[in-house]
Parts: sequence; structure tokens; C-alpha cells
Amino acid sequence: MKLMFLGAPGAGKGTQAENVSEKYNIPAISTGNILREALKNGTEMGMKAKSFMDAGRLVPDDILIGIIKDRLKEDDAKNGFILDGFPRTIPQAEALDGMGVSLDGVIDIIVADAEIVKRMSGRRVCESCGASYHLLYKKPKVDGVCDACSGTLIQRKDDHPDTVLDRLKVYHEQTEPLEDYYSKQNKLLKVQGQEELADTTKLVFEAVEKMEAQ
Ligand code: AMP
Repeated sequence: MKLMFLGAPGAGKGTQAENVSEKYNIPAISTGNILREALKNGTEMGMKAKSFMDAGRLVPDDILIGIIKDRLKEDDAKNGFILDGFPRTIPQAEALDGMGVSLDGVIDIIVADAEIVKRMSGRRVCESCGASYHLLYKKPKVDGVCDACSGTLIQRKDDHPDTVLDRLKVYHEQTEPLEDYYSKQNKLLKVQGQEELADTTKLVFEAVEKMEAQ
């Protein structure tokens, strides 16, 4: 299964990608996590990406296309994968097509901008493993501590309110056109993001099952 999650920052792509990854035992590939890891390790790529990420802008296409090309060659991606946060522009989607990767489906999680802003202020991530939590919707068992690896939970710099508004603008201008792109390929499945995480998960699994049946 080759699946991709589309949606505004904070729509819940990462969480849903992890859910599907667990159920179907295929890797969830988050380009945001790969970039944050590179930044943490001080690699050249990480340093190049930093200023774009901190400002809530997109990192240049050539860097992301290189990342995905390498990542999809790894063994664990042989039986399928879930893309979270890639492609984010039309040139990235065209590059993916150019690599001969044909997605089975694109799940588009729809959430209104005002709701996104509310959600992002409560989002926390593990600084060690990148797992995602929320102060209201997905609390860790122990406050401030990652359930998976006991790492410290922090607020991402780009989740601060001003940057969130910039990221939403970037989303509407550069990423939203992908709805049309994948709709024309008959691959787009829209899921309305629900207030309760578990309700969205249910709709996502229904969409995946529908996609598998096609
Ligand atoms: P995310 O964790 O998916 O919200 O990504 C965090 C940040 O990483 C984004 O705001 C971008 O600056 C950068 N990023 C992640 N994926 C991409 C991509 N496919 N294209 C360009 N920039 C990206």
C-alpha cells in the first residue's frame, strides 16, 4: 500500500499516518521528522533547512525530493509506505510521479483554519523520537514525558501562533493545489477532521478500506 496524507499543518496527518502504520505494518515517512532529525544532528542539510522551517516556509523542492528518493530506497519501504508531509508542492508531486511511484490513494484531512490555530497551540512533540501529543486531545500518560521513549515533550518553534498563520498561508498557496492534482488522478479521498481524535481515526480507516477495495 502506498498512501499519502494531505492536509494543513496540524490537521492530524502525523497522528493518522502513525495509526495506519501500526495497523498495516508499513513505515510512516514524515519529511518534517527527517528534517528535524537532520537539524538536531547538525548535518549540512539540516542547517540549510533551518531558516525555512523556523519561518514556517517550505524547504526548497530539490532538498525534499533528494530526501524522499533516498528514503524510499530503504528496505522497510519495499512493501509500501505512508507519506506524511510529502509532496507539498506540485513540483514535488511531479517528481514523485517521475520516480515511478504511483500512490494508491491520498487521504485529505479537512480542518478549518480557526480550528488549526486552536489545535497547534496545544501540540507538543517528543524532542527525542518526534512522537506527537496534544495538551487536550492526545495527552501523554505523564505530563511532559513521551509515552514511547520517555523523552521530553516540547513545543515546536514553528507551532507558535504567528508562525502557524504563515504556515497556513503557505499551505493554501502551495500545497492545496495538490487536491486538484490528485483529484484528477482519481486518488483523492476527503476525510472531515473531527473534534475527537478517535472519530477521525475511524473515518481514516474507512477511507483506507475503501481505497483497498478499489
Ligand atoms: P511538518 O512536520 O510536516 O509540519 O514539517 C515541518 C516543516 O518542515 C515545514 O513547515 C517545512 O518547513 C518543512 N517541510 C516538511 N516537509 C516538507 C516538504 N515536503 N516540502 C518543503 N518543506 C517541508
